[in-house]
This record gives sequence, C-alpha cells and structure tokens, in this order.
Amino acid sequence: MTVIETDKKYIANTYARYPVTLVSGHGAVAVDENGKEYIDMGSGIGVNIFGYCDKEWADAVAQQLNTIQHTSNLYYTTPGAELAKILCEKSGMKKCFFGNSGAEANECAIKTARKYSLDKYNNPDRNVIVTLNQSFHGRTLATLTATGQDTFHTTFGPFPEGFAYAPANDFEKLKEICNGNVCAIMMEIVQGEGGVIALDKNFIKKVYDFCKESDILLIVDEVQTGNGRTGKMYAYQNFDIMPDIVSTAKGIAGGLPMGVCMFGEKTADTLTPGSHGSTYGMNPAVAAGALSVVKRLDDEFLNGVVKKSEYIKARLSECKNVKSVSGMGLMLGIETTKDSKAIVSKCIERGVLPLTAKTKIRLLPPLNISDEELKKAMDIITEVIEE
Ligand SMILES: *Cc1c(COP(=O)(O)O)cnc(C)c1O
Repeated sequence: MTVIETDKKYIANTYARYPVTLVSGHGAVAVDENGKEYIDMGSGIGVNIFGYCDKEWADAVAQQLNTIQHTSNLYYTTPGAELAKILCEKSGMKKCFFGNSGAEANECAIKTARKYSLDKYNNPDRNVIVTLNQSFHGRTLATLTATGQDTFHTTFGPFPEGFAYAPANDFEKLKEICNGNVCAIMMEIVQGEGGVIALDKNFIKKVYDFCKESDILLIVDEVQTGNGRTGKMYAYQNFDIMPDIVSTAKGIAGGLPMGVCMFGEKTADTLTPGSHGSTYGMNPAVAAGALSVVKRLDDEFLNGVVKKSEYIKARLSECKNVKSVSGMGLMLGIETTKDSKAIVSKCIERGVLPLTAKTKIRLLPPLNISDEELKKAMDIITEVIEE
C-alpha cells in the first residue's frame, strides 16, 4: 500500500489532505517522496516559524532530549522556567501556564477568567465570555463553543453554557451584549481561520478601555498571531493596549506542541495549586525548542518580518485578479476573483504550498524565509492568480 492508501485506511477521516506526502525539509523548502521541492508558504499553519529542521532549534531539542526529556510537573526544570521569564519580559505579562495546544491554552484562559470573576464577585452567574463572530478558538467543547461561527455549533452538543457572540469591529453592539454577567471578552487581533481579518484599531482600543472600566478581562488569542507573526512579538503590541490574559501556541516551539496561557497583573495569581494542570505541559524538550526560537525574535528580526510583508503586499498590488489583501506581517489573506482552492492546487503543482482561509488564499511563511525563496514563491503565486 502507498502512504496515502495506508493513511486513508487507518487514519480517522478528519482532514481533506492534498495528495502530497512530505518526507523531509530544510529552511522554507519541503521535499516530497519523489524528491520534488516546494517552497512552504504555510509553515505547517504558522508553526515552523524558523522553517524545517532549523539547526539551532534541532540541536537545542536534541541536547535536551539527551539530558532529561520529561519529569512531570511535580519537579522544577530549567528550560520551562527560562522560557517563562523571557516570554514575560517580551510580552509584559506576569506569569505563564504551559499546555500543549492552542485549544488547551484557550481552555486555561476561559477557566482563569471565570475563577477570577468568581473569586472577586462571588457571583456564579458572572461567567459569560463574549467572543467575536468569525473567530476561531479551538476544537475542544468549550473552545468550539467560544468559536463565533454557527457551523461549529452543531453535531457535538450539548455545548457548555456561558458564551455570547458579538460582531467584530462594532463596539456599540458588543457593549449591548455585555450585561452584568460578562466576565471576559476574548478576541484575535487578526482573525486567522475566519478569513485573515484584522480588527480595526479604534475597535481594539475601545474594547480595551471598556474592559478596564468594567473589570471585564480582555483575553487576546494569539495562537496564530503570536511569536513574531505580525512583526511584533505579540499582535496586541501593535496597539496601545495590555491584555489581562494572552494565549498562544502554533509557532512558539518551532514545530513541537506547546500552548501557553500568559497572565497579566490582575490574573497572575488567580490559578492556585490543584486548580489547573497538564501532564505534558512545560515538557523540557519542547521548552528547550521554544527557548531557542523565542530568543531570536528580537527587534531586528521582527523588522525583517515587516519588510517581507511589505514585499508580498507590493507584489500583490501589481497582480491582476487580486481584489484585496488583508492581515498583518507574515499573516496575509488574498481575495481574488477566482476559486482559492483551485489556485492552491495549481501552486502545489508548481512547487509552492500556500493555505486557504474561507474564500481567501492565506500566506503564513516561515518568518526567516530568505528573500530569494520569497521572490520565487511570489513569482509562482502571482502567475497562478493572473492566469
Ligand atoms: C489554530 C488556532 C487555535 C487552535 O489551536 P490548536 O493548537 O489547533 O488547538 C486557537 N485559536 C486560534 C486563533 C488559532 O489560530
């Protein structure tokens, strides 16, 4: 049997995969079983932020694997502590909780917001989390419910209570929805899965001010936007705000599973021993990998992300059949006059791997993609769009 046949026979049918089997990679280039090379403009959905098999990252992980690979959270370990310190320094947050995925980071954010509210107000009804339409927050029952898209609210019910939805970029509507039972507002600065939609600056600032006034916690879901993706360490740092809780995952460990929930001043001491946990959370090998990538996300590197973003936008502005380009940094959505899935299939044939988001083509290249690779990928993408 071929890999594809074995996969189809033995793996649960939850993914519509492209007919490509990737076997190795280096930098921004992935190689399939026939030796064909592809420039990866999706980086495993924003995960491989330093591309495939980055030497520094792989060495850091391997070294940790050969030193101590797992201890459980009953004991202290070095890489996790160092990582938490550097994340707090770079984000302005005060404490971190480590899990293994974006959904798990958001579960932690939801639990923390409710515990903060209950501890402070002793009103069990003050538990509602407001999220935005077109958001995406994960696949667990709570984070599916938090996801502001009706298509996700079928099949798996009953869903947990305590979520409400507001349209993005409509502050008055959001305010109407925020009655006395709301404990938190959760949002992505750029909605990724929902179609690479950036929230407007005014809306973000108004939500932040309103949250502060009403002691409603502001949770920013940086699972996709975080770790340099938008040209800042975290996307909220493009604005004059400071969230109470930040969740992140995807790119943080450069290709290994990690989710982090970070707490600001108000929520730093909300979780207490026994109130939350995760067996694999803060796994030393994963934390060592994360440390090796997070350390390199300095201002100079992040300026490079912004420059690459500008290059992509300039190329698309000259490209016919492009209706609009949305997003920030190296998280961009392209609306064209054509079918995005067909465009992606043609790009794959020609050796480029883009993503889609709703009706758009979505680009999430490795942040360290070389100028040469980026040019080659954009030559092919624009050619296919113009065809
Ligand atoms: C991908 C994503 C998630 C879910 O992350 P998983 O690691 O798949 O659980 C949550 N929120 C946002 C914004 C995402 O992009």
